Order: sequence, then structure tokens, then C-alpha cells
Amino acid sequence: MTDTPHAAVAVIGAGLAGCEAALVLSRRGIPVALYEARPQCMTPAHTTALPAELVCSNSLKSDALPSAHGLLKAELRTLESPLLAAATETALPAGSALAVDRERFSLRVRELITASPLVSYILKEVEAPPPCHRYCVIAAGPLASEKLTSRLQQTFSTGALHFYDAIAPIVAADSIDHSIAFPASRWKKGEGDYLNCPFSEEEYRVFFDTLREADRVTARNFEEARFFESCLPIEVAAERGYKALAFGPLRPVGLIDPRTGRRPFAVCQLRRERASGESYNLVGFQTRLTIREQQRVFRLIPGFARAEFLRYGSIHRNTYLDSPALLRHDLSFRQRPDLFCAGQLCGNEGYTESIATGHLAASAVASRIAGHPWAAPPVETALGALLHHVTASKEHPFTPSNIHFGLFPPLDTVPVKRKPGKKEKQERMCERALMKIREWISSLPG
Ligand SMILES: Cc1cc2nc3c(=O)[nH]c(=O)nc-3n(C[C@H](O)[C@H](O)[C@H](O)COP(=O)(O)OP(=O)(O)OC[C@H]3O[C@@H](n4cnc5c(N)ncnc54)[C@H](O)[C@@H]3O)c2cc1C
Repeated sequence: MTDTPHAAVAVIGAGLAGCEAALVLSRRGIPVALYEARPQCMTPAHTTALPAELVCSNSLKSDALPSAHGLLKAELRTLESPLLAAATETALPAGSALAVDRERFSLRVRELITASPLVSYILKEVEAPPPCHRYCVIAAGPLASEKLTSRLQQTFSTGALHFYDAIAPIVAADSIDHSIAFPASRWKKGEGDYLNCPFSEEEYRVFFDTLREADRVTARNFEEARFFESCLPIEVAAERGYKALAFGPLRPVGLIDPRTGRRPFAVCQLRRERASGESYNLVGFQTRLTIREQQRVFRLIPGFARAEFLRYGSIHRNTYLDSPALLRHDLSFRQRPDLFCAGQLCGNEGYTESIATGHLAASAVASRIAGHPWAAPPVETALGALLHHVTASKEHPFTPSNIHFGLFPPLDTVPVKRKPGKKEKQERMCERALMKIREWISSLPG
């Protein structure tokens, strides 16, 4: 296939985000040049020449409500997402999850792309946004080619891109035992901004021993352990000796446990994820433990016996932008409004999330071409909450996120006799989101 300078939009990368973006644009009547580097230039994780390859698991996670993953899918279906339709058509039996036959899924996406007269599918590595197109969506993924990433660094500064993520778990506030965890800031500075889980020496010893023995995710051969001193995995920090954590991420200095009136032996500090305090991030707990081990080991933190993890920790090779600093609410670059970013590169995490930002970027480009201002989906929706994390997160340093209820604003408080349970709250959040997404869709021009 040849280059198509007449295409209004270039999409770089025929992964999940790029294919979704190209198909959405073509359905709006906009010609697209979709560039894909494989098979000439393979990434270390892809093994085929097919578009929309799922590089690891074949599951797009839960498809059921009330779950944040199920909600994101329900919203994408309301928007008639072409990739979610392809996933549904090629689904395998997997309980409440949406798992697909990965080859049939990719073949179906390729069929959609090649059948569209408005999509030119060009197998070529793009080293810089091609100037012959009016707009460009960069969707080159977490393993974007080196030539493209160095060009992005030259354009937007070296600090603009991260190459590894170091993610700490997030827990639901109402699953923490508040009779143990106490609000306070070190040296009483601030207004008790952190929740603190105090360890006795015995609790610390049990936690330390269990952590040292816990199973870790095996790194892939392209994920050499290049850890920065300031964000060492908690289990690697523990290898430095018995007191390494008590003098490091679990240091108790400046904190007094109100139950004992004394400084604890060690403290796990929890930082609010949002002002509303519905969810907390475990400070310094970036980790490569397996999910099962995170559940087992981290529930040994005092106050965590019934902790509900909204996001698990991880560390992997992942190229992503410092998006809140670089991108506007419509996923275009502040410095280059003709350039948009989508997929894992823009700071979402996960297959369905990449489809979601691909869809949103296409919607924003289409509005730009039509000369209409683009309004982001409301933050009460899964799409809006994810987009808000990507473009407006206050987290420092910024880390990518999958969709979870901690990204949503809390429900309005209505005076009720009975406090709603977790499931009921999540059902209400889903109902609110689905109502808001329909309102958003009907407000879109054309
Ligand atoms: C090893 C690994 C395992 C993962 N496992 C999972 C998982 O199990 N579940 C999950 O939900 N998420 C997983 N993710 C995270 C993420 O959801 C996937 O990477 C997802 O495919 C991201 O979608 P994307 O469209 O942003 O990027 P991709 O799907 O990777 O698509 C990007 C495309 O751009 C192409 N490209 C790169 N550079 C250029 C260039 N210069 N010019 C042209 N084309 C280019 C690539 O070849 C690729 O086809 C994983 C990530 C990695 C790295």
C-alpha cells in the first residue's frame, strides 16, 4: 500500500488504540492513513504481523456490571466501538470476562480495516509524525519504536516520556480498618493528609519475612531490571536487610500512634488518590509481586485484613508520556495541537482502556475537522474518569492507570436511613455513568 498524503489524518500504530481510532474516523467519513511498523520492525512482545495483536492475556477483563471494567465496555458499546464489537464477535466462553480468540480477533480487525475504502493500511515504521497529513494520532503503544520515541523526546524534552512504570497498589478507603489506621502527617505538618497503618515489631517481622519469600512476576527478557533508587520495588528494598523498610518506605519518624501514644516500629503511609478520600495509594509499594501474593502479603499490613485492591502494583517496560503536563483534555498536545496521542502511550493501562482512548482521540479529531469544540465525556462516566486521569491527574510522578472505581467522583450524598453497601454503591455509580454517557452522546454535534 502506498502513502496517502490526501488522508486528513495519520494514525501511527495499528494496535488496539490505533485500529479503533482509524475505524471510528473512517465511519465519520474521514480518510485515514494507518501506519504499522510490523512486520519490518517488530516490538519485543508482538509475535505476528496482524493488527490489534493482544501481546499477553487473551482476556479483556470483566464484562459484567457493576464493575468498572464492565462499565467501560458498556459505554464503548453504547458508542458502537468497532473493536469491542470485534471482540464480542470473537469471544470465547470465559464466565463474566470478555476473552477472545486472539487470532480471530486480529483477523476480524484486519478485515474491517482493509474493507474500509477510507483507511489506507501502510506497513512502515514512522519515525516522526508525517507532515503530509493535517492531523496525526500517535498510538504506537508501550513498546513504541526507538526512532519515534527519540523524536518525541527531541520535540517535547527528555522528561516527556517514561520507559518503565512503577505502580503501587490502590485500596478502597472503606475496606481499611479505621480503628487501626490513623490520619496524620509527619511532624504534624498538614491536616492529617495521610492514613497511617502502624506496625508493632512483631507485625513488621511477619510482614518482612512473608514479603521476602513471596512469588514475583518473572520479568520478560526485554524488561531488564533498571530500577531507580527512588522507586525500588518494595521486595527489592527488603533484600537490603531487616531494617531496610523501617528506615525506608515504612519509616515511622514524625508519627505517633494515637492508640499507644508512641512512635510505631514502622508505618505504611496511604495517600489519597482523590480529594474525596474514597481510595488510597500505598506510598512506596511499587512491586513485582504476583497479584495473588500482593493480596496475601499486603493484607498483613495492620488495618488491611479486609483490604479491597482497586489496582494492583506492577513494574514493567512501558513507554508512556507525562500526559497531564503535555496533553489537553482532548488528548492533543498543548505544544502541537495538530498531534494527538492515544492508547497505552498516553498513560492508560490495559487493552480495553487503550481501545477507549483510541475512540476518544478519534472523536476529538473528528470534531476538530468539523470545526466543533469537543467536550470530554463527563467524569462520572468510565470514559470520562479514565480521560481525566490521563490528562489531569495530580499524581506526581504520573503513573498510568487501568479503569477502577477510585477514579470516579463519589456519589452525591442523599440522607438515607441505611448506608448503602459496596455493591449497591457500585450499581448506582454504573447507573449514573450510563445515564451521563447517553446524555453526552446526544449532546455531540451531527
Ligand atoms: C509485554 C506486555 C504485556 C501486556 N499484557 C497485557 C494484558 O495481559 N492485559 C492488558 O489489559 N494489557 C496488557 N498490556 C498493556 C496494554 O494494554 C497493551 O500493551 C495494549 O496492546 C496497548 O494498546 P496500544 O494500542 O496502546 O498499543 P499496541 O497494541 O502495542 O499497538 C501499538 C502498535 O504500534 C506499532 N508501532 C510502534 N512503533 C511504531 C512506529 N514508529 N511506526 C508505526 N507503528 C509503530 C506497534 O508495532 C504496535 O502494533 C501489556 C503490555 C505489555 C508491554
